Amino acid sequence: MTTAPPKKLSLKERYTLMTRDLAWDTTYQPMSKVYPQVGYEGIKIHDWNRWEDPFRLTMDAYWKYQAEKERKLYAILDAFNQNNGHLTVTDARYINVLKLYLGSTPPLELMAARGFTNMGRQMVGAGPRVACLMQAVDEYRHFQTQIHSVSNYNKYYNGLDEFAHQQSRMWYLSDGKSFFDDAITAGPFEFMVAIGFAFEYVLTNILFVPFISGAAYNGDLAAMTVGFSAQSDEARHMTLGLECIKFLLEQDPDNLPIVQRWIDKWTWRGTRKLGAVGMMMDYMLPKRIMSFKEAWEIYFEQNGSALFNDLARYGIKVPACFSQTVVEKEHVSHQSWIGFYMKSRAMSFHTWVPGPEELDWLSEKYPNTFDRFYRPTLEHWDKMEKQGKRFVNNTQPMNCQCCLNTIKYNEPDDPMSTCFRESVYKGEKFHFCSDHCKAIFDHEPEKYVQAYISSHQALQGNCAPEGVDVTANDFDPARYMNDFWRLDPRATGDFNGSDDQKNFAAWRAQATTN
Ligand code: FE
Ligand code: ZN
Repeated sequence: MTTAPPKKLSLKERYTLMTRDLAWDTTYQPMSKVYPQVGYEGIKIHDWNRWEDPFRLTMDAYWKYQAEKERKLYAILDAFNQNNGHLTVTDARYINVLKLYLGSTPPLELMAARGFTNMGRQMVGAGPRVACLMQAVDEYRHFQTQIHSVSNYNKYYNGLDEFAHQQSRMWYLSDGKSFFDDAITAGPFEFMVAIGFAFEYVLTNILFVPFISGAAYNGDLAAMTVGFSAQSDEARHMTLGLECIKFLLEQDPDNLPIVQRWIDKWTWRGTRKLGAVGMMMDYMLPKRIMSFKEAWEIYFEQNGSALFNDLARYGIKVPACFSQTVVEKEHVSHQSWIGFYMKSRAMSFHTWVPGPEELDWLSEKYPNTFDRFYRPTLEHWDKMEKQGKRFVNNTQPMNCQCCLNTIKYNEPDDPMSTCFRESVYKGEKFHFCSDHCKAIFDHEPEKYVQAYISSHQALQGNCAPEGVDVTANDFDPARYMNDFWRLDPRATGDFNGSDDQKNFAAWRAQATTN
């Protein structure tokens, strides 16, 4: 008996067999009960089969690619660590970038993994379900590899060991935490627009430039390799985000106003989150790549405009915040650094006044604003520090109820006054950093009244150890904060005079002299 040898399947056939062909419609339960979340946001999907898979990747091929990337990555991390790679970075100030990054990024990758897991569960179509599953696994991988790449620094430098504890408690990590809390508690389609589109597609380059190029420029082979290893995943994520937006807009005209509102909201929320990235680029990288302003012009104004022009045929308009971000690119990085500099006793990374050449670089990059508004403050603080009176602000900050940033940004048309807005909801007053944050709150107040604001928690006595009478007249809410945060005092304060500065100099000297 002869049988024909099994026909070798084309990639497309294989793909179909291993993805869409594995899906089925339910019979003894209605589909709407099995997929309860797809309806309540008001999004209408008529035909899930119209979803075009932008990358035809089967699960087995996925594991093979990812395993290969992991092997390369960990070989480099091992070599870097065994060769005291931490001493090859430009200067120990750079390590503060990693401290802020460790608290603010890997935990959010983990939240992204949770979000895409849920999103995959809720999607009726097999195409988006498989794509979400892969992205969820990618995000777990990013969470792990990022921590591994920084872990070696934890053996030598202060302020890296309590990031997991601090992430849900520390004032300056709460903006990123709330960004993802907000997204994963939204419905599946809003989550996709928030993370897959606004964050991955519109804004992620602003994040990648300082992290990967910044690491490369500053001699951190470990962080650089992690970045490159994630980049091919990012390409997939960006495609998924864009594909999803187009799919929603093509399915029903009623989806347009809902999607537009999400784009407006999440572009603004992402923009606020990137203020700290701007500060990293302009102040924290000893060797700079480009200014935040330049990055904003290339990646948001130019590339973003091209993208929104492309989406105009679906009726999508440029996000409402666009023009405000263009004005703010001149200010946010300086205002962020000044805000952090003042709070140096309440942070697990160091701050400093830039050196004279660095101040000149900032003048050159920000000819419209730096010398007029920011240099005088920094020079004044430099003088104070040299007199042994390093400036510290010990008050509790006021935070925006929506984005959770401390209220420190200016009125869009007046750099000399702080932008500040209020809403009253059920008799209680809430504060905002901007018109856009206020508008987001006013649309869904029940969601944002629950925000965890560190300074409020302290004043309410929720950050004091058991047994302390938080109602006593002499209760000092600041007294227990650092214990509550598990803040290592060696990690706080100015970079000048820090353990990190001294140790790095001593170890470097050992490595380069007899
Ligand atoms: Fe990621
Ligand atoms: Zn805000």
